[in-house]
Amino acid sequence: MSILPPSSLIAAPENPAVYCRCKGAVISELFVKCDGDQECPNGSWLHPQCTSDLRDKSKHELDAIEEWYCEDCVARIQREEEGG
Ligand SMILES: [Zn+2]
Ligand SMILES: [Zn+2]
Repeated sequence: MSILPPSSLIAAPENPAVYCRCKGAVISELFVKCDGDQECPNGSWLHPQCTSDLRDKSKHELDAIEEWYCEDCVARIQREEEGG
């Protein structure tokens, strides 16, 4: 799991407003990286509190996760696996 504080995220991507499901509406201490990468509709960076599965995890717990897909990528992957 890659974790970024917002200051480093702002320095890197072109347009922070396209990140996360909230599109930048939530001011967060950190972002987590979705392994959907280019395919991720959330720009592959999300606030943990904007997800249903990571919102209660500590930074230490997030660090221990090796691979993570946001809910939108999970749904997309499931659709692809179903052949639809
Ligand atoms: Zn968010
Ligand atoms: Zn994603």
